[in-house]
Amino acid sequence: MTETLLTADAVVTMAPGNPVLSDAGILVRGSSIVAIGDPAELAAQAPGAARRDFGKSVLMPGLINTHCHSGILRGTAEGLSLWDWLRLYIDPMHRVLRPDEAEAASLLCYGESLLSGTTTLVDMWRFMEGSARAAEDLGNRVVLVPYVGAAEGFDYFDTLDDNEALIRASHGAAGGRINVWVGLEHQFYATPEACRRAAALCDRYGVGLHTHSNESRDEVTEARRRYGVSPIRSLEHLGLLAPEHVLIAHCVWLEDEEIELLSRHRIGVAHNPVSNMKLASGAAPVAALIAAGIAVGIGTDGEKENNNLDMFEEMKFASLLGKLRAMDAAALGSWEVLRAATIEGARALGMDHLIGSLAPGKRADIIAVRADTPRMTPFLRSGAFGNLHHNLVHAAQGGDVVMTMVDGRIVAENGVLRHGDMNEFIAAAERAFAGMVGRRSAWLAEHEHGALSPV
Ligand SMILES: [Zn+2]
Repeated sequence: MTETLLTADAVVTMAPGNPVLSDAGILVRGSSIVAIGDPAELAAQAPGAARRDFGKSVLMPGLINTHCHSGILRGTAEGLSLWDWLRLYIDPMHRVLRPDEAEAASLLCYGESLLSGTTTLVDMWRFMEGSARAAEDLGNRVVLVPYVGAAEGFDYFDTLDDNEALIRASHGAAGGRINVWVGLEHQFYATPEACRRAAALCDRYGVGLHTHSNESRDEVTEARRRYGVSPIRSLEHLGLLAPEHVLIAHCVWLEDEEIELLSRHRIGVAHNPVSNMKLASGAAPVAALIAAGIAVGIGTDGEKENNNLDMFEEMKFASLLGKLRAMDAAALGSWEVLRAATIEGARALGMDHLIGSLAPGKRADIIAVRADTPRMTPFLRSGAFGNLHHNLVHAAQGGDVVMTMVDGRIVAENGVLRHGDMNEFIAAAERAFAGMVGRRSAWLAEHEHGALSPV
């Protein structure tokens, strides 16, 4: 089995207590981490191991993006309220989207993710056989979650039958890198019967469930009007908090009773600060969720509501929005944010025994982040002014990632994918955009009495 000894000036393991190791190494055998510590001792333990020294860099766990959507609409639907954005841009896109376009979107987004240090991605998207192929080829670890609509008027989405077929075909594929969960776009998009079937599918196949909830204030009002209870209470009534692993994106507008429900059912939350700011949704009560013991991960949301998939940038926004919400510069500290992007994100997925921190026995999902840049200077690994955690959250950018390893395999290095050609993906995405937008305009001209003008 291949053995590699990775070394760097600093190793951040995200183990309890948040240790920072200076001049340390990580010994990788096959897809797993064998040992972490003094490079000379590790070299003696594995004299045949290939050596990779990253010098003035930080080795750390690959980042976990707990909520994303593949897509090719970046920058083409700006400045809109959530409702207009959905009605005029996003839902018509779903009506005309083709499987080959969906696959082109996944290749673009999965490539972007690996290049910026994200090793695990939760992707809610369509026609995800193509997404599974993209992840298998490029080397990402993914949780694929189809956008399922299962109510009258939402028949243009994927169905629960599609979702079940994808679970059967791809869950556990690529040595376990590819996971498939049950996805519901939103509880408003599904009948109570469909919600019960979604929960039953989770039990039958031992997979998790992912949906959006409590994103905007209007949505909470509408849930109360429809169901007479809060959205999270309604999810409980529909049986959607019962599966063993449930991950809910957004959770911006929550009442205390809903936080208690999320905690009691051990629900994971995906916090999407950039999307929540860009769509003017609000600032999620992240500190209160963490205080309630809830596993909070960080997500970029899609390319159209962000507009990039850079988890370093997302960490910075999580920190800043947490501070602004509390009007307290000490709120949501850098270690808390780093934990949300790594080990707590893993816990929100029920995968913390495999990923999210660097430890013997865990999967070797590791990134190297340059520290020889102006924005990482001064480089202080320990002592009273130890600043690595602050600079990883507030200074580093995705482009500073020089190596991305998933399952013990290097899948991106120095800005280049090892198993795919980004130039090809960009060209294919631009072709797909042109075709899809043309069909969307035709659909809108027929159904919405006029085509869109750019905003
Ligand atoms: Zn979303």
